[in-house]
Amino acid sequence: MKTKNFETLAIRTQSGRSQHQEHSTPLHLTSSYVFDDAEQMRARFSDEEDGNIYSRYSNPNTTELIDKICLLEGAEAGWATATGMAAVFTTFGAFFESGDHIVACKSIFGSTHTILTKILPKWNITHSYVDINETELWEAAIKANTKAIYIETPTNPGVDIIDLEWVGALAKKHNILLIVDNCFATPYIQQPIKYGADLVIHSATKYLDGLGRVMGGLIAGSQKLIDEVEGFARHSGPALSPFNAWTISKSLETLAIRMEKHSENALFLAKCIENHEKVEFVKYPFLRSHPQYDIAKKQMKLGGGIVTFVVKGGVETGRSFLDKLQMISLTANLGDTRTIATHPASTTHARLSEEERLDVGILPGLIRISVGIENIEDIKLDILQALN
Ligand SMILES: *Cc1c(COP(=O)(O)O)cnc(C)c1O
Repeated sequence: MKTKNFETLAIRTQSGRSQHQEHSTPLHLTSSYVFDDAEQMRARFSDEEDGNIYSRYSNPNTTELIDKICLLEGAEAGWATATGMAAVFTTFGAFFESGDHIVACKSIFGSTHTILTKILPKWNITHSYVDINETELWEAAIKANTKAIYIETPTNPGVDIIDLEWVGALAKKHNILLIVDNCFATPYIQQPIKYGADLVIHSATKYLDGLGRVMGGLIAGSQKLIDEVEGFARHSGPALSPFNAWTISKSLETLAIRMEKHSENALFLAKCIENHEKVEFVKYPFLRSHPQYDIAKKQMKLGGGIVTFVVKGGVETGRSFLDKLQMISLTANLGDTRTIATHPASTTHARLSEEERLDVGILPGLIRISVGIENIEDIKLDILQALN
């Protein structure tokens, strides 16, 4: 397809039709594929001929999803995994070996933090955390054995923004990989590869599916790097199920309009509670008060769907705010059509000490709202009545 337009690519990127000439891609539930003869079988196994062998390696539904994410992220190649964490772990498994070191941003998804601090040290792979706001310390954290910089932007749950152009140049200067978890923004809002990211990771469970149905993960980057990912993943087996790939590929058809609406609702809500008497402060990338507002405006098309705010009064007020909500769901997911509220200090980050939480910006009264695409008046009313 010649077009470069996001919406069209998200809809029209499709695997070849079968003899039934279906308009919408069918679900290919098969674990393996047949060969015409022994020669074809040999050629497939030796990579002389392209084509499917076994669904742990490839499947028409996962291939369609990968082709789509590559076009949307501006990547040469990609790989699909069962979950977002499988994408993170597969990337680490493919590129890091004993003795390697990773520089990572301090505010980071909880399970990624656990992999860095509890699992990778088993194989003598170490890391250093750097604060988003202390950019001058990033270069100092890069050592002779540093293999990669790993970041999220916006971060989860801090909604901090890292300057992709700056960090891309830093990675290039030191000839190390830049890996970006682009889960919060999605490629509709920001394409990290444009700024020098080598690999982009997604939890497709979030906005890419977007309807809270299935789990999935994606990795995208250059052909050379994805060959390494493939070498690891084909044999270690984190493959995405064809059903989930089919579901996520369908969902991508509406990603653009969903992200427009999530962002419109989120900005409206952020402005609406910004000066509320029960609210200490609100953090949203496209609010002028956001510490990295200018960077957000430079690299993001929209502000995205995540708003955080701190209610006055601490942990108990945070928890009682959740209890007062009537429509908004209390659930661990985000990036759903339905608005979701969480209280990180008593849930996802409860295992951290108070000091560790404050260090990554999780104040006792912090509430994270994944703003859905219900009518904004209903979202607003629920938040306001719970605050009051
Ligand atoms: C949810 C999430 C993940 C993990 O994805 P799963 O699909 O839940 O395994 C990774 N990074 C970020 C930023 C996330 O929000």
